[in-house]
Amino acid sequence: MQLKTYIAPGRAARPSARATTVEPGRVNHHSQLVVRRAGRAADDLQGQNIYVLRCNGCGHEYGEAGIRVWQRKCPVCDGGKPGLPVPAEEPSLFDSL
Ligand SMILES: [Zn+2]
Repeated sequence: MQLKTYIAPGRAARPSARATTVEPGRVNHHSQLVVRRAGRAADDLQGQNIYVLRCNGCGHEYGEAGIRVWQRKCPVCDGGKPGLPVPAEEPSLFDSL
C-alpha cells in the first residue's frame, strides 16, 4: 500500500471546529431540537450566540452556545450538563462593549 502525501496549498482545509451552522428546526444527534436563536452568549463565550434547545425526549427547554449545540445532550434525561440561562430575545438598546 502506498501513502500519498499531499500538502494542501494555503488554508484549503475547512476548520470543522468552527463550522457552526445552527438553524432552527434542526435536530442534533441526541434528539435536541433547535427552537430559535436567543441572543448573545455569556461572558465565557464571547462571539457566540445562545440557542434555545428543546429535548424531543422530555420537552425540556434550555439554552446552549451555538458552537456546542450539535454535541448537546439533554440535561434532564440524557446526562448532559445543566443548560445555560436563555437571554432575553430583545437586545438592549445599549448593547455595546
Ligand atoms: Zn430530555
